[in-house]
Amino acid sequence: MANLSDILMEYTQYRDEQQRAIETKKAELQRSLPGFGELENARQKAQLSRVRAALLDPEKAKAYGEEADRMIEEIHRLLTAHGYPEDYLEPVHRCPLCRDTGYVGRKEKRLCSCVRKTLLMDAYAQSNLIDPLHQNFESFDLHVYDEELWPYMTKVHELCYSYAENFPHTEKKNLLFFGPTGVGKSYLLSCIVKRVLDEGHSAMKITAFNLFELFRSRHRGENVSLTPLVETELLALDDLGTEPMMNNITVEYLFNLLNERIQRGRHTLVATNLAPSQIKRHYGERLASRLINLEAAHVIRFEGRDLRLGKNQ
Ligand SMILES: [Zn+2]
Repeated sequence: MANLSDILMEYTQYRDEQQRAIETKKAELQRSLPGFGELENARQKAQLSRVRAALLDPEKAKAYGEEADRMIEEIHRLLTAHGYPEDYLEPVHRCPLCRDTGYVGRKEKRLCSCVRKTLLMDAYAQSNLIDPLHQNFESFDLHVYDEELWPYMTKVHELCYSYAENFPHTEKKNLLFFGPTGVGKSYLLSCIVKRVLDEGHSAMKITAFNLFELFRSRHRGENVSLTPLVETELLALDDLGTEPMMNNITVEYLFNLLNERIQRGRHTLVATNLAPSQIKRHYGERLASRLINLEAAHVIRFEGRDLRLGKNQ
């Protein structure tokens, strides 16, 4: 697993690079843009005076601060008048939440979600077990479904979309999609996971078969951590029911994983070809109750022909 101090070190280096790039741009503007040097000097002077006055004379410090702000406005005006973007001298933030510091919160500093995400994703990055995400809500196309399904699929799409938009404050913690192969279950899982990732949360999508591989390696005593699967804020489990059924592994590990996640208040998405009654038969009541608890899960039926075969077949 990636280590926290390495990640934070990389963040510091990135911020330094950004700062150097800004200094280079400023030096260039001093030469090429008349008036810039004077404004920048005045800004720096006001800024320095503000810092000096901060402890002794808050009133004066405030006035210097306002002076510095005026200079920044002047500089923006000068830049845009000469075709530069207004934020030409601002750092480019990779993460707007923490501004690449790795921490958020004023009084109480907490690790930013971008750092937590990196820590979790790196855990399996080399393994190819985590699904890549190519789908997003914008590319969802209702026309792949038969027309009589449009009203229903529109509702399903809306439910998934609002789940992703409101994450982690969703109406219910979990979603269970069931229905035949190739009717868009996996696609919508990807859409949700991608949106949740884009909002800075940790999320991963994995097939039940690959999950089983992790369980089996772990069971053999190999050095495989299941912690990221427990810790990730959103886990999407695809194709449940296609994994091998192996004594002491499949049901036991899956139950423990789901149970741990429920206890931690984590969100879980599941897509399966099995109907709820088949889930009970296949995995037993105890595990089924973790999957199909209607208090905690929206259970959504998918219908239609296999979309991957094309509409006319
Ligand atoms: Zn961040």
